Order: sequence, then structure tokens, then C-alpha cells
Amino acid sequence: MLRTACLGLAALAFLTASTAMTQPAALAIKSAPFGKLADGTAIQAHTLTNKNGIEATVIDFGATLISLKAPDKAGKIEDIALGCDKLDDYVKGTPYFGCTTGRVCNRIAKGEFTLEGKKYTLEKNNGPNHLHGGKEAIDKKAWKALEFKNPDGVGVTFTYTSKDGENGYPGTLSMRVTYTLNDKNELRIDYEATTDKATPVNLTNHGYWNLAGHGSGDILGHELQLMADRYTPTDDTLIPTGKIVAVEGTPFDFRTPKTIGSRIGEIKGDPGGYDLNYALNSEGKKMALAARVVEPKSGRVLEIETDQPGVQFYSGNFLDGKQAGRGGVTYKKHAGFCLETQHFPDSVNQPSFPSTILKPGETYKTSTIHRFGVKR
Ligand code: BGC
Repeated sequence: MLRTACLGLAALAFLTASTAMTQPAALAIKSAPFGKLADGTAIQAHTLTNKNGIEATVIDFGATLISLKAPDKAGKIEDIALGCDKLDDYVKGTPYFGCTTGRVCNRIAKGEFTLEGKKYTLEKNNGPNHLHGGKEAIDKKAWKALEFKNPDGVGVTFTYTSKDGENGYPGTLSMRVTYTLNDKNELRIDYEATTDKATPVNLTNHGYWNLAGHGSGDILGHELQLMADRYTPTDDTLIPTGKIVAVEGTPFDFRTPKTIGSRIGEIKGDPGGYDLNYALNSEGKKMALAARVVEPKSGRVLEIETDQPGVQFYSGNFLDGKQAGRGGVTYKKHAGFCLETQHFPDSVNQPSFPSTILKPGETYKTSTIHRFGVKR
């Protein structure tokens, strides 16, 4: 049996689980041990399922999305998120597969910033720059999990408090990341944070996607549309110049759908490929569609909505086949793409960009929705 749901996109339809062998009757959540850290901390894997056969698994380590199973247009279910089998793989370090990234995701130039007259120095873990909060950042911490189930969704709220000075950042930062799956095939991620000192905050999820299946090859044939007329050009180390320029006439123009591979060869540099921040047309003023990706063969569709001003589009350029992937798969260059909804990179040093500074008494609050569907 097929059921269609309108997303304002006539061709988009969803499959119910009745096409699949196992039929989750309703929204459900179950958890299972996923291993122990060296200090004995037990890490759980929480699996959220909906009536249409969508299954998302998140773990306490890094509040990480380790798996996302979704049907294709024929009802065949595949894992479309790059990930690993074992906790140890995540502890040793992956290219940020599915994790919550912060306290400030993306790059901070030279690992330095000045706030309220004080200079802060952070770890330089990406050439001359600071990347994704440092090497042992929030993606490498055990978060506390609280599962919930209500009529509209099932999910997990993860909490973690980063101490004043952790990874070089000022302020005690209390964070909450909530994953919710509903029967509209939406995986929603809500972020909240409070601080006791002014501090930069920029949280994202670093999911890598391959809508044909996580081990199926490269993503160059995926059709991408980005709701962004402008992007933030960078220097050679991927630090924005401060300008926000039109995508028109460049290989970065995804205003209308085109395959990721169509102009990727025009992007110079080593390793080449897309790794840049787009300034979304919605400017972070409201929840709005940021990206739509269609994989033509499977028909799978991913739509991303966010209230953030930017999205980093990364075409998996540094994947080199060395990472042990799920089920023994090796993830080669372009095996997955990321669409990291966020504030612009290096905002803390860029006065013309929307501010990432959170002050005591304020609450950082942002949301991103991943909506899974199929196109026939
Ligand atoms: C960055 C890439 C980086 C990747 C993994 C992305 O957010 O833009 O340059 O290689 O994360 O760290």
C-alpha cells in the first residue's frame, strides 16, 4: 500500500512500512548498550522508529546520529547515513560522522578571538585554524540521555555541560540537543544552550548522507538545490574573507537543482570539491527550507529546514577510504555529503556576519528538520 503526503512538492511521496517486511506499528523507541568508554561509562544506542519504516539511531557519545534507515521508491530500506559499527571507532575519531559539533562548529581563524576585551586562544587542529571546537570537543563526550514519547514524536534529549575554559572557550555552557522523529518522516534536531559568561556558540549536526545507501559509491549524481543566492568566499585555509557574494555565474550556484558532480571539476585546490558556507535567503529569520537533495535512482529525497542563517555544503572531499565504515564498507572521496546548518564560519572574528555570541541570561535556541521522502 502506498500513501502520499503533500510537502508542497507534488512529486514527493512517502512509502508506508507496509511495503517493508517488518512493520513498526507506531512511533517507538528502544535502547541497547553500545559499549563502554575507558572510564567505564556505559554508552547507549537509542533507536527511534516511525510507522513508515524510518529508523534513526542516536548514541550518548557525542549525541551522535549513527544510522538513518529510510525506504526508497520501491520500499527498499537502506541506511543512508555514513557511520561506524563500534563505539571504539567513534572514540578513535571519525570525520565527524553524524555527531553534534561545537562548542563552535566550523573554523575560527588562527584559533583566536577577542571577547569583552579578553583574548582567547584555542587549539589549532586544522592547519593554522581551529575546527569544530577542537580535537576532544563535545563530539567526544558522553552526554546524558532522556528518552521521551508523546503523540507527535519519539525522541531523546541529550544534555552536556561544558566547563568554563573547556577547549579554551569562556563560560560554563549547558547544552541540550533533542532528536525527535515523527510520522511525517521528519527527524528534528532542537538545540538549546545557556552560559554564565559571554561566549561564542554555534552547534550543528555533522551528518554525512548518501541517499542511494551509505556504501553505494559517490554522491556526485545526487541532485542538489540550495535556497541560497549568496555564499561566503574563503582564503586557502577555508576562512571567510568577510565578503558575501552572489553564486550566480559560479560552480557554487545550486539555486535550481543540478547534480553535485556537474561542475565540481571546476573547483580548484587540493582535494577540490565543495566545502563552503552558503548564506541562506531566509537569513536565519524564520524556519525555512534550506536544501533539497534527490537521488534519482532510488528516488530518495532529503529536505532540510532550518532557522539558521547558513549551511556548510561539504562534498566529502577528505574521505579517503581509510575510515572503517559500517559493515566493513570503506568510504572513499565523495562517498557522502554534509549540509551543516549553522552560523557562518569564523563569525566570532567577522563583525559583518550574524553574531554567535551568547550572553548570560540568554538562551541559544535553534532547530533543523531533516525530512525524508521519495520522488517517483
Ligand atoms: C569542514 C571540512 C572538514 C569536515 C570534517 C566540514 O565541516 O568544512 O573542511 O573536512 O567538516 O571535519
